[in-house]
Amino acid sequence: MCYCTPSIRTPYCHNCNQYMRTEIESLRQQLAECERERDELHQVCRDAYEVWAGSEGIPEPVYASEAYLYQLLINMRDEVKRGIAKVGAYKTGEK
Ligand SMILES: [Zn+2]
Repeated sequence: MCYCTPSIRTPYCHNCNQYMRTEIESLRQQLAECERERDELHQVCRDAYEVWAGSEGIPEPVYASEAYLYQLLINMRDEVKRGIAKVGAYKTGEK
């Protein structure tokens, strides 16, 4: 059936066909853009994790303020790890 003129009951409509082709092409472009963004975000997470992994080691916190900052750093590292795992899973189709 035709979507542009519901009264028309032809199996093929040039207008609808053209519209669908344009829509499909637009969706393909949006998907490609999303995949590029995903790959960039994955790389940002990996770079952030490398900063952690390449550190010289963090001294034992002595003061409460240092303990707070240390915990903050650990939490941020864990969020980055979670991001890497999540995006990695999307890239391999595991979700
Ligand atoms: Zn139509």
